Amino acid sequence: MKYALVTGGSRGIGRAICVKLAEEGHYVLINYTSKQEEAENTLKLVREKGADGEIMKFDVSVQADVDAVLGVWIEKNPDKTIEILVNNAGIRKDQLLMWMSNAEWNSVMDISLGGWYNVTRLIIKGMLVKKYGRVVSVVSLSGLKGLPGQTNYSAAKAAVIGATKALSQEVGRRGVTANCVAPGFIKTDMTEGINEKDFKSLIPLNRFGTSEEVADAVMFLASEKAAYITGQVLSINGGLYS
Ligand code: NAP
Repeated sequence: MKYALVTGGSRGIGRAICVKLAEEGHYVLINYTSKQEEAENTLKLVREKGADGEIMKFDVSVQADVDAVLGVWIEKNPDKTIEILVNNAGIRKDQLLMWMSNAEWNSVMDISLGGWYNVTRLIIKGMLVKKYGRVVSVVSLSGLKGLPGQTNYSAAKAAVIGATKALSQEVGRRGVTANCVAPGFIKTDMTEGINEKDFKSLIPLNRFGTSEEVADAVMFLASEKAAYITGQVLSINGGLYS
């Protein structure tokens, strides 16, 4: 049995990834920060697949919080290596740069980029000792192309892509890979206010994607089959941009 951690596993894309990891028999650590009921619903879905897991509350952007919960779990479970890490937690706070507040800039950077650092730094050590690991980070079309109104979000996601490319070169010799997936428009709480009808004509596949479609790509990169792929960004955007 492999141990897997999904940050932001309580809802949306993260939940779909947790369920697919469970289908493959993994023990799933489901991170969340505020919506405990949703995290418990994800755990229920994991158990319905015949696998097991646990919910883990911490704010990925707060290093002391990550260390106190995830760091202590790692210390107390020296025999259990987390072999799959999915950095999925993220928020968006869209605003034109000229109107952007420090809070809007910092919260997006701290969760996507700071969260990537706080969590990956802790988990990578065990992977290196085990000489096996898969780090998959959920970035965005916005981090590849840049989108107006999202300087904070585009910067944070582009930074995670850069960090992933650097990390992949640090850890490749020890059997650890690091890759990103870059979704376009996916139907989740995050895109609730965006009308699919207004945007779908821009998308060659003429629709928004589903969380399950993103999760399938994550599962491939997290599998042993993807052993010779590292430092890459896989777009899942219906052909919107490549
Ligand atoms: P979502 O439905 O809004 O879910 C966000 C998840 O992140 C929730 O589980 C939430 O936990 C968690 N989270 C937020 N802040 C956190 C923090 N500080 N610490 C720990 N967990 C935190 O979003 P989604 O659409 O599934 O997005 C998942 C990822 O895909 C994000 O990184 C997002 O940027 C990326 N993405 C999404 C789209 C899209 O179209 N939906 C497109 C491109 C990229 P709680 O439930 O506890 O709040």
